Amino acid sequence: MIKVLAVASEIYPLVKTGGLADVVGALPAALHTHDVAVTTMVPGYPAVLNASEEWAIVATLPSFFGGRTTIKRATVGGLDLFALDAPHLFDRPGGPYGDLRGQDWPDNPQRYGALSSAAAELCTGLVHDYLPDIVHVHDWQAAMTLAYLHYSGLPRPKSVITVHNLAFQGQYPPTILGSLALPQRAFALEGIEYYGMIGFLKAGLYFADRITTVSPRYASEIKTAEAGMGLEGLLAGRAASLSGIVNGIDSQEWNPAVDPKLAANFSTGTLGPRARNREALEKRFGIDHDASPLFCLVSRLTWQKGIDIMLEALPHLVESGARLVLLGSGDREMEAAFRQAADLYPGRVGVVIGYDEALSHLMFGGADMTLVPSRFEPCGLTQLYGLRYGCVPVVARVGGLSDTLVDANDAALTLDAATGVQFHPVNAPMLQDAITRAIALYRDKPVWRAMQKRGMQLDLSWTSRAGAYARLYRELLA
Ligand code: ADP
Repeated sequence: MIKVLAVASEIYPLVKTGGLADVVGALPAALHTHDVAVTTMVPGYPAVLNASEEWAIVATLPSFFGGRTTIKRATVGGLDLFALDAPHLFDRPGGPYGDLRGQDWPDNPQRYGALSSAAAELCTGLVHDYLPDIVHVHDWQAAMTLAYLHYSGLPRPKSVITVHNLAFQGQYPPTILGSLALPQRAFALEGIEYYGMIGFLKAGLYFADRITTVSPRYASEIKTAEAGMGLEGLLAGRAASLSGIVNGIDSQEWNPAVDPKLAANFSTGTLGPRARNREALEKRFGIDHDASPLFCLVSRLTWQKGIDIMLEALPHLVESGARLVLLGSGDREMEAAFRQAADLYPGRVGVVIGYDEALSHLMFGGADMTLVPSRFEPCGLTQLYGLRYGCVPVVARVGGLSDTLVDANDAALTLDAATGVQFHPVNAPMLQDAITRAIALYRDKPVWRAMQKRGMQLDLSWTSRAGAYARLYRELLA
């Protein structure tokens, strides 16, 4: 067994704001079948600590920024966890990163600096009988672990950093250096400095033995100025250590044959019951009950996700005779614009503003197509749920959306390989064109059914995807 310490700020099902949590929550079980034992270090948010009565203190740390701090260990729902119990840092109302109004906590660098520092100590023998072979950190919140390890001067495990979204880098003014308990010399180009600031993600990318991101296409995109968000130079320089591993999905949680969140279960052999999910959706969103194509969109409502592009293409979708149901939250103006669109197109556009895991299942299980018009997308999960649920993805050809679908062009249709519709460049006219193509395909029932079934039969499970991480670990230890 290879022993891996994973470090992350979210883990499904305990704390989730996005795809990061899904990956961190799914990998341990999937890696177990590849002889890799993962223990995950997470912040001791109330949702984490309240999930078990079995937490045992395994270490007491010198106080982080004026508060009592311990590391606790427990197994929660099959996940072997270390939690950094520091109530003054993590026991707060609101989300993991900000208050109830969505404002980032001003001490986020110290909060995640503390997480990273504690993780580094776990890697150098803080806890009796625990020493990982590999430390695997996720995103900027955990990235600084590798800097703490470097400057500790102690023998350290091999390291991997996974970037789930380069847009979030954790950059802070150099004046906070003292509060992070890192030596002054760390503030250097060959360290944590990044354009005059302290860069958490930069530090991780600089010190990691291997860098992965969540699709091969995104791994190559981020070496360019267009998608590199300022880190393209560093990433291009580390190209030999950079690779992409596509995310899997939890194929038990997302199994249309048994999913209790659906109105009716179905499988490749019996697509018929999807109609009952469609009806349930029509009722829930208060839209017309008819045979016209039904698009769905489940997303954070942000610029990255191309939600403004969707708004621009919406009149075309409705004029083409189709309908849209949207579930999402985020940018207040985008939320308001979609509420207005629902009023403007009664019966044709239905909108639920909010976060609703169960409803999202019903949407993939009942709608005909799922839209993902992202400007950039490291991997993307909703297109994978769409594939698994026979809800054909219509997506921008970027990042993981490019790697996980075969566009229904003439060649792919002839070869029976098509699984979705892709468009590029990412703008409203091209999205409109993709919507038109998808509707035409939908009207050709044999072709459409075949496309649905092909997507449903793909192996999208973590069990197979985790093999790539296991190989990476073994290479590092060889
Ligand atoms: P990102 O992590 O950038 O938000 P991903 O596609 O990788 O994008 O992951 C988003 C995850 O969050 C998916 O599991 C998606 O179904 C879910 N999701 C996003 N918005 C909502 C919502 N409003 N209600 C329910 N689930 C949502």
